[in-house]
Amino acid sequence: MAKDYYEILGLDKNASDDDIKKAYRHLAKKWHPDANPDNKKEAEEKFKEIGEAYSVLSDPQKKKNYDQFGSAEGFGGGAGGAGFDPFGFGGSRYSYTSGGFGFDDVMDDFVSSIFGGGRRSSRRNPNAPSKGQDLHASLSISFEEAFTGVTKEFTISKNVSCDTCHGMGAKPGTSVETCHVCHGTGQVRKTSSLGGFATFQTVGTCDECRGTGKIIKEPCTTCGGKGTIRKNVTIEVSIPAGVQDGQTLRLQGKGEPGKNGGENGDIYLDINVKASKLFDRDGYNVVCTIPITITQATLGAELKIPTVTGEEEKFTISAGTQTGTTFTIKGKGFKKLNSSACGDLLFTVQVQVPKKLSKEQRELFNKLAESLGEQPPVKKKGIFG
Ligand SMILES: [Zn+2]
Ligand SMILES: [Zn+2]
Repeated sequence: MAKDYYEILGLDKNASDDDIKKAYRHLAKKWHPDANPDNKKEAEEKFKEIGEAYSVLSDPQKKKNYDQFGSAEGFGGGAGGAGFDPFGFGGSRYSYTSGGFGFDDVMDDFVSSIFGGGRRSSRRNPNAPSKGQDLHASLSISFEEAFTGVTKEFTISKNVSCDTCHGMGAKPGTSVETCHVCHGTGQVRKTSSLGGFATFQTVGTCDECRGTGKIIKEPCTTCGGKGTIRKNVTIEVSIPAGVQDGQTLRLQGKGEPGKNGGENGDIYLDINVKASKLFDRDGYNVVCTIPITITQATLGAELKIPTVTGEEEKFTISAGTQTGTTFTIKGKGFKKLNSSACGDLLFTVQVQVPKKLSKEQRELFNKLAESLGEQPPVKKKGIFG
């Protein structure tokens, strides 16, 4: 005998997806085992049943099968059949880790509504050390700087620990007291009603100390009691050779100050590498185009190839070098990060055809053509071509 999932959720068959979701949330809260410490057993049963109903009615295919055949698995299947255990209760114990039906968001939502801030993040002691906030910044460097590595400065606006009160927030000579409402925990329990007889306890932020757990009687006049002041801070950063455009460097401990002795946050620094007029980058290789003359290509030549560091490398091309040929100078590319190896410098020659010739030069070219015994070949072309 199939269960009536609509009845379990208190709905009729025309309920919309939204109605189903709302009903599920409402009932799951009401029957959550933690909210029913006095009748845990019954609550677990109900909670499981509600979850089962929702898992079917929230899944379009299962819902269609259920509406048509009275079963989520389609004709002949049994809804709520063997092994159906949406929350992994496996008997009387329950856990929140086995979603399996895409409930996770719903579960997160409603678990956090019960526990105030989420079960996963748990109730945090405001006096416990906590890491400072991470910050983001960006820095532009030249192609050459990326090649050689560079030490640069950048300025960032951030909160720094107040020197006057040493980050305590209290006027020097005055004390910081533990909040008498929450006894320093920063959180207070409140009992809420879900309607009817159902009530449950939530844990919320203490209003008295605004969750800090401390009461500052006389705030520090420099920082107004916050313990931090906003400042433009200049930070020096050493950028390693070989850094790529768009790479992010993590500057550990350079972010906002930690609280209660916690470690500082980090700065994530995005590196923008400006384009070079001469060079491009391909992985760890530097690539460039080198113009050569028609005679250098024909007769061969010793070329001076510029490198990124501004030096020149001598490189001999042989006679009859074709335009578009790429040559490699080993080890003149980018340094590989965390390695002593380097990429290569790849240059591609491009033959420049002279546009203006003197009378004498023209004669020489004519003689050359004659000597080669032919006019330059003329290809016959079609009308498209
Ligand atoms: Zn201060
Ligand atoms: Zn308090």
